[in-house]
Amino acid sequence: MASETSRRPAFAKWLGDTNDVTQIFLSAGQIPGLINMAGGLPDPQTWPIKAMSDLAAKAVQDHPTDALAYAPIEGLPALRDLIAARFSAPGLLLSRENVLITSGGMQGLDLIGKVLLEEGSLIAAQTPAYLGALDAWRPRRPSYRPMRLDANDFAPETALHGTQFAYTVPNFSNPTGRLVPLADRQALVAAAQATGTWLIEDDPYGTLYYDSAPLARMLTLAATGGAYDGPVIYLGTLSKELAPGFRVGWVIAAPEMIQALVMAKQGSDMSTSGIGQRITLDAFASGLTDSILPNILNLYRDRRDALCAAMRTHLADLFDWQTPEGGMFVWATARNPALNTDHLLRAALANGTCITPSSVFDPTGQNRRAIRINFTFNPPEKLTEGIRRLATATRACLAE
Ligand code: PMP
Repeated sequence: MASETSRRPAFAKWLGDTNDVTQIFLSAGQIPGLINMAGGLPDPQTWPIKAMSDLAAKAVQDHPTDALAYAPIEGLPALRDLIAARFSAPGLLLSRENVLITSGGMQGLDLIGKVLLEEGSLIAAQTPAYLGALDAWRPRRPSYRPMRLDANDFAPETALHGTQFAYTVPNFSNPTGRLVPLADRQALVAAAQATGTWLIEDDPYGTLYYDSAPLARMLTLAATGGAYDGPVIYLGTLSKELAPGFRVGWVIAAPEMIQALVMAKQGSDMSTSGIGQRITLDAFASGLTDSILPNILNLYRDRRDALCAAMRTHLADLFDWQTPEGGMFVWATARNPALNTDHLLRAALANGTCITPSSVFDPTGQNRRAIRINFTFNPPEKLTEGIRRLATATRACLAE
């Protein structure tokens, strides 16, 4: 039997540089009265419970094989067709062969890592980056080349050169809430085409535009008029549009990439939950998903506004931030470089609130000056109180 010391290196590969922030989050749920602004959770009040119960009953009664048997690895054919039709656009011809149904967008990130990364591969990433992606790829110990998409001198071809792939969340990035402008999307797609580099468009927040019409997806910008075979690997999910518990997402990519991902998925979970896929199919086909969106947008827009108003009242002298035009998060950077936001997390918890510190979104763990604040989960009055508590915690932290 392996000794304690010989077992440990295997864990180290997974744990990597994770600091004790992860442990703090795991215990935070037990604090009574905590106003949690750390997660990326939709508000459960947006779930259409009755309509979804009906769809669940219909799935089992009318489609028992789809719902209860092992599903095809690629996903239910009818759902793949529906996703292909939903994302096709003038000049962008998608078919079933371009679509893989996954267990949430998260599994798409995991499978891409399995298929494309070697030990120590280089990834071009919009940073700070989504923690789940960093977690999924950590076992391959990749290095990251940060892409400063907002820099005037950003040169996409140089950024992509020599990388396994480029990773972006163009719509309201997690964690920064930033929207990548159309010109940068076009430049990235052109660079991916010119250099033959895969370009991951991770898009869980693509429907959550509060102030303007959605910008073109990079997938659409990569259209060449025929059947899709381009460099963009698009990741979608039902998690923010309907509910995360279904664990249903999709990858749209060139057929060859889909085939490789299917092989990786076979060795992972065999198939995405059949009942979840059947409900997803009917939720889209019946118009349920589209019909609940306006209410979700109104609710989250009001919360975004309440949060930013509270921040202007309580945090204006402590942090800088930009009001996001969509998504779920505000990213705030401390004005005082001496503030360590890992320490602020502890002080915030002691004051009954919780935010996410920037270190977990930095592949090097070095960025300790910013925080991510979620505004979708709590009602306005709780957000206001949470920000008041955060201001008290920040002042206490700076006074230490
Ligand atoms: N990518 C990003 C940027 C996210 O924020 C999330 C959800 N937090 C995901 C992917 C994965 O979401 P899911 O697995 O629930 O579809």
